[in-house]
Amino acid sequence: MSTIYAAKHTRNDDMLYNRSGKSGLKLSAISLGLWHNFGGGDSYENGRSLVRYAFDSGITHFDLANNYGPPPGSAEETFGKILQDDLRHYRDEIIISSKAGYTMWQGPYGDWGSKKYLVSSLDQSLSRMKLDYVDIYYHHRPDPDTPLEETMSALDLIVRQGKALYVGLSNYNVEQTRAASEILRKLGTPCIIHQPRYSMLDRKPEYGLLDVLEEEGIGSIAYSPLSKGILTDRYLHGIPDDSRVAKKSPFLHPEELTGEVMNKVQALQNLAAQRGQKLSQMALVWVLRNNRVTSALIGASKVSQIEDAVLSLNNRAFTAEELVRIDRILTGESQ
Ligand code: NDP
Repeated sequence: MSTIYAAKHTRNDDMLYNRSGKSGLKLSAISLGLWHNFGGGDSYENGRSLVRYAFDSGITHFDLANNYGPPPGSAEETFGKILQDDLRHYRDEIIISSKAGYTMWQGPYGDWGSKKYLVSSLDQSLSRMKLDYVDIYYHHRPDPDTPLEETMSALDLIVRQGKALYVGLSNYNVEQTRAASEILRKLGTPCIIHQPRYSMLDRKPEYGLLDVLEEEGIGSIAYSPLSKGILTDRYLHGIPDDSRVAKKSPFLHPEELTGEVMNKVQALQNLAAQRGQKLSQMALVWVLRNNRVTSALIGASKVSQIEDAVLSLNNRAFTAEELVRIDRILTGESQ
């Protein structure tokens, strides 16, 4: 029989909490996502230890989506069980997000951005997690065929129904974000957060999106800040058996570990070592470097990876020279 979990009293002491845009909501600078390692085929006890360790370290934000697993929905079920087993007394200290937008169920109502899909999918998510409400509900990807007004009014409705406290957008481009934000503001349910992919190996948000978010008062949470594990020491000496690549995730293929990428990773690793940091740690504080990113949204398969992430916050400052060296490594000008 497992012992009753009591969170550490000191859990919030060393974490940094950043305000999401102009909202009242603060998020831990490191958040934990449950995309991988929390599915039906993964070890429940490992997932449980990851969430417990994260919460004990001051991580207050856990990110889910209807389709995380596999099978789709199982990560929400796992998280619901962890909440029941360990965290139910701490619900008011936790920010839980979910999303809908990708294929979830058969037929025309289980995908994209209709009001029918968003509202019914959230009901399913709440039932899987055994929750009355989520803190943040996202539209997971833009839908080219549903009027933006319909999708945004679904988010507004969900908040008015009390099923979510805040709403966010994910994977929306600059123009889509501006348009959606305007509609949501008029509806009285402002967008408070955007979830883009952002890392040293994918700097797209720097080309306009982060500017729009600042103008609109929207926070941002960078997903895959470690480029799914590439921006760590994981693959510097081959492909470890317990890695995401070896486990044949459909979202990370060995072909992505090209010579060019790995040369950059090695050069970044050398620079991180000069800063007295692991590469994974430098990669996280790099996305957080200019206050435009509210939180770095990591994944983890081991407790030690969460420990690395949290400790990264102790060494956050970059010199101008270090930033130039990183830019030159990333553009391939130097190694
Ligand atoms: P990361 O880029 O943080 O990659 C996480 C992986 O990197 C881990 O699973 C682990 O891989 C490896 N890793 C982490 N820390 C270390 C370390 N210290 N040393 C060595 N390796 C390490 O993020 P994810 O790609 O997992 O995405 C994070 C979250 O972002 C998701 O869970 C989800 O919530 C969200 N997301 C949102 C999307 C959207 O469309 N909105 C899309 C994708 C993700 P290994 O398993 O090999 O140990």
